[in-house]
Amino acid sequence: MSSTKAFASQADLQDKKVSFTKLSDHAYAYTAEGDPNTGVIVGDDAVMVVDTQATPVMAEDVIRRIREITDKPIRYVVLSHYHAVRVLGAAAYRAEHVIASEDTLALIRERGEQDKASEIGRFPRLFRNVESVPPGLTWPTITFSGKMTIWLGKLEVQLLQLGRGHTKGDTVVWLPAERILFSGDLVEYGATPYAGDAYFGDWPQTLDRLAALKPAKLVPGRGAALENEAQVAAGLAGTRSFIADVFASVQASAAAGRDLKAAYRAALDAVRPKYGHWVIFDHCMPFDVSRAYDEATAHRDPRIWTAERDIEMWKALEG
Ligand SMILES: [Zn+2]
Repeated sequence: MSSTKAFASQADLQDKKVSFTKLSDHAYAYTAEGDPNTGVIVGDDAVMVVDTQATPVMAEDVIRRIREITDKPIRYVVLSHYHAVRVLGAAAYRAEHVIASEDTLALIRERGEQDKASEIGRFPRLFRNVESVPPGLTWPTITFSGKMTIWLGKLEVQLLQLGRGHTKGDTVVWLPAERILFSGDLVEYGATPYAGDAYFGDWPQTLDRLAALKPAKLVPGRGAALENEAQVAAGLAGTRSFIADVFASVQASAAAGRDLKAAYRAALDAVRPKYGHWVIFDHCMPFDVSRAYDEATAHRDPRIWTAERDIEMWKALEG
């Protein structure tokens, strides 16, 4: 290993195998072994896409899969939250509407540009053909607070904000008739939750509200589609315990007066045995612990990550 250790993710170069899983006559999951997922909802008259992939070229592969099952127009793109790896592929769909929560719009305004630069620098493999991303940011054309219902013909689609967790603006998409939930990064499965912009204190109770919907199937932000209630319960429980365990460790370190680097070492020792096999564990932990330490000490809201702050943090913890 070289003395200047690059981001863990910059050495992560192997392409993942894509699955396009049918969950019902209306719901499909585009998943890629722990890379960011996209949800697809086929209504009577139109298609809705939930999270776009990182670049338009990557989104073209989602469109190719959609065209194997329907020729209905892709009218809606929903952004579950503002992260670049979820939104920068939006242009490819040429959708009439891009929908996000008001809170997500506020984050795009406040930190969208910095997040874009930071995420592309962190994880180049996830931004394949980054040159296909149009200049600027992805802006919603419709925003909502709390709840919005869209009818795709007779199919009811609910967009719900059930609380803060992965970000301040998290939106889930719910098909009540089929009890299918698209959770965005609020739930991960076999993949380490990224919590660099999270609200650790709120996330577990937000997951309780997702669980209260009693989903029969769930498409997580990363990892395979959860196709029965036992798998859904496992996805919710795994995410919940990871968030709780990281926060408990970091809170204990902060209370004991440890600095960030000591808190990081302690958190790694505490959680690696249980979660170290999840994908992107080494990538997420420095960001997750940095945010947990902030939340346990001085910062109620997540500080903005910039390409420079990423490198500074990485050197401080892993250098
Ligand atoms: Zn995210």
